Amino acid sequence: MDSQNLMMLSEQVIAHTYNRFPILPVRGKGTRIWDIEGKEYIDFFSGLAVCNLGHCHPKVVRAIQAQAEKLIHVSNLYYIEPQIELASLLCKHSFADKVFFCNSGAEANEGALKLARKYAKEKAGEDRYEIITMERSFHGRTLATLTATGQTKYHKGYAPLMPGFKYVPFNNLKAVREAIGSKTCAVLLEPIQGEGGVNIPSEGYLKGLREICDEKGILLILDEVQVGMGRTGKLFAYEHEDIQPDMLTVAKSLAGGVPIGALLIKEEIARSFEPGDHASTFGGNFLATAAGVAALNAILEEGMLENCRRVGEHFLARLQEVKERFPFVQDVRGRGLILGMELEMDGAEIVKEMMKRGFLINCTMNKVLRFLPPLIVTEEEVDRMISALEKVFKGIKSSE
Ligand SMILES: *Cc1c(COP(=O)(O)O)cnc(C)c1O
Repeated sequence: MDSQNLMMLSEQVIAHTYNRFPILPVRGKGTRIWDIEGKEYIDFFSGLAVCNLGHCHPKVVRAIQAQAEKLIHVSNLYYIEPQIELASLLCKHSFADKVFFCNSGAEANEGALKLARKYAKEKAGEDRYEIITMERSFHGRTLATLTATGQTKYHKGYAPLMPGFKYVPFNNLKAVREAIGSKTCAVLLEPIQGEGGVNIPSEGYLKGLREICDEKGILLILDEVQVGMGRTGKLFAYEHEDIQPDMLTVAKSLAGGVPIGALLIKEEIARSFEPGDHASTFGGNFLATAAGVAALNAILEEGMLENCRRVGEHFLARLQEVKERFPFVQDVRGRGLILGMELEMDGAEIVKEMMKRGFLINCTMNKVLRFLPPLIVTEEEVDRMISALEKVFKGIKSSE
């Protein structure tokens, strides 16, 4: 079937929950993707921060192949060697003592919300259940994580939402302090907001949150589904802030593209989960965790964090130069290789123009161009993308 017919068939048989770009990718390697027509793209989106190692990283491919030939799935009624190995690695390289595995970011957050309630009820009483989250946050699409998400556009049509959530503005410690009451059991936030427009915490904000949570005896939960696994130049974004959370969720890039989610937990809190309290059929299965071990080792052993920090700095400096040249660029911000460029106008057309020129970029919150390249991207590739972006911007300026 040719690409036109395939796209038409897709619209016919797939639920229309996505507006897709007219590209049919068939192959990828490193920072590159090729579509069915043979057109090459440099990927500055990484499948939404999933392919942090680049496409088809050889170690991940080999791990999947080798595991698929041995055993793919047995369920969590038995011990699973790569699951044990991945959990050990995650604990060794983070604050956590225990890990619960699932299959997506939403599910990891769902687990965190359930455990926060259970722990608080056991420790402080039946009516400790309320969770404070941030405006402009994103935590997933299940009913509980959708409710946790502080953006009304995602809530529309799904009422009644879950009870027990309160929203406060990001980067505002006073608002959190005022929102905490006798029912509060946890604060949940992304250490950098991704979908909400690449919003970076101000100096001391996360430390301030940690102090408030300690003082009030409530849990601090970080959603690192988008910014974990090296995206910011450290394995986890909280490492920039000199704090430790009580729980943390990861998913997206944890297994190099294979679906997985994980909830990282401190020992004292993990004890509130007993056999039967929470579960997932696929969670931490052979295939996903074998891929995860390979992906995590590659990030740690192949200099990806250093590359992310170095190229990220170069990238941000180049974006700042573009901002100075084009007055409709209102702000640029980022840490490591999650970067945002806020425009005065809608960014959708710019994304399409960049696609024609062979670059995959993204736009979130209508006006924020978001860049999430693989952590192996080079300065030279960044420069090529920037010069294409400037050409697109010049086209806009002259047509105004
Ligand atoms: C993508 C994302 C999620 C949801 O992950 P899914 O795997 O799509 O369920 C949750 N939190 C953050 C911060 C995300 O970026």
